[in-house]
Amino acid sequence: MPTGRFAPSPTGRLHLGNLRTAVVAWLYARVDDSPFLLRFEDLDSGSVRHRHYRTQAEDLAVLGLDWDEPVVNQSDRLECYREALDRLREQDLVYPCFCSRREIREAASAPNHGYRGHHYPGTCAGLSSRERTDRARERPAALRLRAGGTVRRINDELAGSHELTLDDFVVQRNDGTPAYHLAVVVDDAAQGVEMIVRADDLVESACRQIVLYDLLDLPRPTGYAHVPLVLAPDGARLAKRHGAVDLDDRRARGETPAQILGFLASSIGLCEPGEPVTAEDLLERFDRNRFVARAPYKPTILPPDFLSKVGETGRL
Ligand code: GLU
Repeated sequence: MPTGRFAPSPTGRLHLGNLRTAVVAWLYARVDDSPFLLRFEDLDSGSVRHRHYRTQAEDLAVLGLDWDEPVVNQSDRLECYREALDRLREQDLVYPCFCSRREIREAASAPNHGYRGHHYPGTCAGLSSRERTDRARERPAALRLRAGGTVRRINDELAGSHELTLDDFVVQRNDGTPAYHLAVVVDDAAQGVEMIVRADDLVESACRQIVLYDLLDLPRPTGYAHVPLVLAPDGARLAKRHGAVDLDDRRARGETPAQILGFLASSIGLCEPGEPVTAEDLLERFDRNRFVARAPYKPTILPPDFLSKVGETGRL
């Protein structure tokens, strides 16, 4: 009975890709009568919009998804993240990093530094305490985990095998906010989440996160299933500017929740194209082994007319 969860950030309406991921996460849990949890990842207070705790929960409910209480907000759990950071600090596994984004970009693009792309090249790893004191006068420090060079691999049920050579990644931002990787690991472990079902853009993050499970002596999840993204016609990540991307927009076009759910489900082979379905219908038919056997799935690219809003030229 692997406990599952959906962990959106309440920064806007859930778009079709978010909703499809939620449906798959819900099916994975409920097909075994397992607990399914809703957790709001709301640590980035600058981008949280208060009304979206409600709109996100409502949209899930409109599609027929349900979850077990209590709903957790990460912003209520700062103490737990602080404790985890203390444990890493006690083992000398973190260090302060004073680099700006520009400094990191420049250092990472210098020849022969041994790292590629956006990898942090370890600039602040060996600062003396005197250098730290000096640099702390200029800007606040983020905290980075000493993980550089570690290789981790995950076997994802849908996305296959992924390997990542880690850099020293941030576990606390320089405004004092716990970083996503730290918070998600602490929470999934505390909530007993065993099966992580989420969007495909986080597949590499899983490699970072398993290092944190190990260093914090927390049980790793038993499985990962990263669900492909739903993309805009131009291949970009789905955003409001693309048109009718959320439940409200779709309903304004006259679509029923069963039609919208049918569209989402059929795009990954969980029902026939054009077939209206309820969440209960999907649950009755969901066969995890068959779903996994059909992987990997390609991202879904929406046709342009699908996204035109009411009043614009388009299919409706
Ligand atoms: N909060 C992340 C998102 O909305 C999901 C993080 C996770 O599921 O680990 O994309």
